[in-house]
Formats: sequence, C-alpha cells, structure tokens
Amino acid sequence: MAATTNARAALGEGTLGELEATLRGHLVRPADPDYEQARAVWNATHDKHPALIIRCAGAADVMQAVEFARSEGLPVAVRGGAHSIAGFSTSDGGLVIDTSPMQGIRVDPAGRRAVAQAGLTWSAFDHETQAFGLAVTGGLVSSTGIAGFTLGGGIGWLLRKYGLTCDNLLSADVVTADGQLLTASEHEHPELFWALRGGGGNFGVVTSFEYRLHPVGPTVFAGPVFYAAADAAQVVRGWRDLTATMPDELTTLANILVAPPVPFLPEAVHGQMVVGILGVYAGSVEDGAKAAQPLRELAEPLADLMGPMPYAAMQGLLDPLWPAGAHNHFTGAMLNQLTDETIDALLARHAAGQAPVRELHLHHGGGAMSNIPVGGTAFAHRDAAYVLNIIARSPDREGFDEHADWARATHKAMDPWSTGGYVNFTSEPGQDKVQASYPPDTYARLAAVKDRYDPTNLFQLNQNIRPSGGR
Ligand SMILES: Cc1cc2nc3c(=O)[nH]c(=O)nc-3n(C[C@H](O)[C@H](O)[C@H](O)COP(=O)(O)OP(=O)(O)OC[C@H]3O[C@@H](n4cnc5c(N)ncnc54)[C@H](O)[C@@H]3O)c2cc1C
Repeated sequence: MAATTNARAALGEGTLGELEATLRGHLVRPADPDYEQARAVWNATHDKHPALIIRCAGAADVMQAVEFARSEGLPVAVRGGAHSIAGFSTSDGGLVIDTSPMQGIRVDPAGRRAVAQAGLTWSAFDHETQAFGLAVTGGLVSSTGIAGFTLGGGIGWLLRKYGLTCDNLLSADVVTADGQLLTASEHEHPELFWALRGGGGNFGVVTSFEYRLHPVGPTVFAGPVFYAAADAAQVVRGWRDLTATMPDELTTLANILVAPPVPFLPEAVHGQMVVGILGVYAGSVEDGAKAAQPLRELAEPLADLMGPMPYAAMQGLLDPLWPAGAHNHFTGAMLNQLTDETIDALLARHAAGQAPVRELHLHHGGGAMSNIPVGGTAFAHRDAAYVLNIIARSPDREGFDEHADWARATHKAMDPWSTGGYVNFTSEPGQDKVQASYPPDTYARLAAVKDRYDPTNLFQLNQNIRPSGGR
C-alpha cells in the first residue's frame, strides 16, 4: 500500500501528459469539467473519487491503461456499463479503465454471430441484433453493460431456451495484466476462456466479446401480470407448480414487490405489496400465448400486460423503474427447490422490510442453463432451479443502512435452502461471498487461471479470486 501511495503522489503533470499523448481516447483528471459525470456509477451508494479515469477509444488505449496502472502501482477499476452493485467499477484514488466509449458491434446475420466491444449496453446490443431478428440472453434492464454481465454469467429472458449469456460466448479479446492482448476461445487460451465465463473481471480487461446469436422475435409473447397481496401465497405457489412443466421457450420470473405508482396498477395498491409474474416466450407468438395462459390465471389479476410485443420493448420495459442515482443493495442466492415454507418465509420477509423499493425476484432456472455440465464454465450453479435476487433500493442515503440490513437478514433467512451465491447479484466484497459463489473445485481452477494470467492481482476490484501468492 505504501508503494501505491508513493506512486500516486509522484503522478505529476509531466507523467500524465506523456500518458495522454499515448491515448486515442480521453484522460479525465479530478479538476476537469467532465470529472463529476465521468466518475458517476449506477449505484449511488459508491460515491468515490478516482485519481484518473481513462475513457478508452479501443484496445490500444486499454493496453496503455493497464501498462500505466502497473508501472505506477495504481489500483485498477474496470468499467463497462457501470452497473456493478458492489461498486467495483470505481475507487478512491485509483485508475478507472472505462471502456464505455467502445461501442462498436458487427453482426453477422448469416453466421448468427456478433462481435461487440466491451462498452455496449444491452439496449445498444439488442438494437443492432434485432435488426436481423437475432438475440443472445441479455439483461432485464437494458442500461446494464454487456461486459460485467457476461463475465459473471448473465441471467435473462432467453436463459431457459438459449442458456446464460456466458454460455453463448465464442471468444473474447482480453488485455491481461502484462498489457498484452490475447484472444481466448475453446482453441486459444482455453483455461482463460473457461474462467471468463462466470469468473468475473479477475483475469484482464475484455475489449470485445464474440457471441453466438439465435433467432428471436422481433415480436414475442411477453410481459408482466400483477396480482394482489391477498393472493400472494397462492400466486407464487401456483407459479412454482407451473415451472415444473414449463417449456424451455418460456423463461419467467416471480417478483414480490412494492407496487410502484404506475398508471396501469390501481392507485389503492401503490406502495403496497403485490406479486408480478413476468415472462418471455422465445418462439412463435401463438405458442407463447398458449404457454403463458396459465400464468395469467393464478388468481384475479390486478393488471395483465402480457401480449405480443417487440423483444426489444420487453428488454427496455423495466428501465424507467431502475434509473441511476439511487442507493441499492442486491444479494442473491441459488435455490434448488422452492417449498411452501420458502415461499412463506419470503413473503414474511418482504412484509418486514421498510425500503420504498424492495423486491424479491425468483428467476426460474433449468432448461438450457442446466444442460451444461457443472465444470463446463466457471459459472457452476447449473442445477439451481431458481435464482433469488433480494433487492433494497431507496432514493437517498437516509435509512439505507437499515434497508441493506433487511436484505442481508432476508438472505440469511434463505440459508436452509440456499446452495450458493451469484457474483453479479452480490453487493458486498469478501472472500466468504466469493467462496460461496463457486464450488471448491471451480474456485481452485479459477485460482490456477489467476496465477497464470494475473499473478500479482492487478485486477482485484471484483469478486476477487486471489492468486496463490495471496495478495
Ligand atoms: C439495474 C440492474 C439490473 C440487473 N439485471 C441483471 C439481470 O437481469 N441478470 C443478471 O445476470 N445480472 C443483472 N444485473 C447485475 C449485472 O449483471 C452486474 O451488475 C454486472 O456486473 C453489470 O455489468 P456492467 O458492465 O454494467 O458493470 P460495470 O460496473 O461496468 O462492471 C462490473 C464489473 O465487471 C468487470 N468488468 C466490467 N467491464 C469489464 C471488462 N471490459 N473487462 C473485464 N472486466 C470487466 C469489472 O470487475 C467490473 O467491476 C443487474 C444490475 C443492475 C444494476
């Protein structure tokens, strides 16, 4: 740490000027007019002041940035869409390698592939691929970046039909800790490629991702249906029962939430608990309407917005509810089963919270996600029948610590059923959290990849896999 402090103190204008001259992108210093905007991340809980932000124009800038961080001993944060819940894509006094200006994408419609630079969000990605009726599993909120999302796994509406996002990764260009650009795929650096599919940002800075695409939409049968609190237990149990025989084309989510003040929900329930069942059918609209019908009859709906809609519209449907700038705590758990007792515990925990936005998302797993063997990628929870995401969110700091405590306590209440965590839904750093996200064999294999590609742990602002040197 002393070396880091000394290195930072020695960063004079001369050194920064030399760095700037090597970049095609933009170096942002604390005194610059765009610094405030450049340092902001999605989760306002992490209000940090980096020493420098390099807004990279391409892989060459990323290589320069990695080299500079290493030579100056600066802590490195890597950023794509800036949606890290844990605040890993910023730091106090460190260097941010911001890939968000890297917005290139090439879609190969005939080959059903896309090569996308790391700065893209799902909104931009879907825009380009849907022009050809193609898609890969992407985020439920379209402002999320493809980079952090893919590297952690990637749970989205196409999961049961086409797997996690990382399951569709064909190759990645990566700048490793020595400043070199490598391509990782099944054939080149296969262990690195394995680790990139679920191991997070531990192994280098990915500059571009090559994905397999699938025919989706452009119109799909999709949307949410909402039910009243009085029917909550019946609805969640009914949904759980339906998941046992759901076709892989249908990916759904049960959400126990505080009803937002939206015009399609009766005013009487605004601010009250409701249950939303949301889903997307990755197939024909007619088949989707049939498959989704039982989800719309779990009780008398408060509002039923399911129907044919553009896939891209469904991808952006939730965006207005999740703008940047609020305080957020997410914590996730893999559940092998959802018993009546689990559901009752979740409903009781929801009622016990105070956060103005508190949501318990139950993502249905299985399908294509479970067709990959446990050791096939670093994301190892292939047998998770459900993935729970516990969310507390409030517009300002006041009371937020209590809301975060509520999320932690809700997570604890799930201990009897939880089989692990998911790095993308984990708000807090810590070895216990990382260890809980991977089976021991997977963790050991990730540590071996870390030893090979980042032995000094240059990339440690992430759910960190420590090299065996122990730094
Ligand atoms: C509103 C919201 C909705 C979400 N919805 C979902 C969802 O539906 N499904 C799901 O699975 N997850 C979801 N998440 C979690 C999301 O997957 C993670 O927060 C993810 O890390 C975000 O990626 P990003 O690029 O936007 O974040 P960033 O903050 O830019 O990056 C997060 C981390 O990823 C790593 N990273 C980023 N870019 C690179 C790169 N180029 N090379 C190497 N490492 C990199 C770094 O470690 C970085 O700290 C959601 C998060 C939010 C805030």
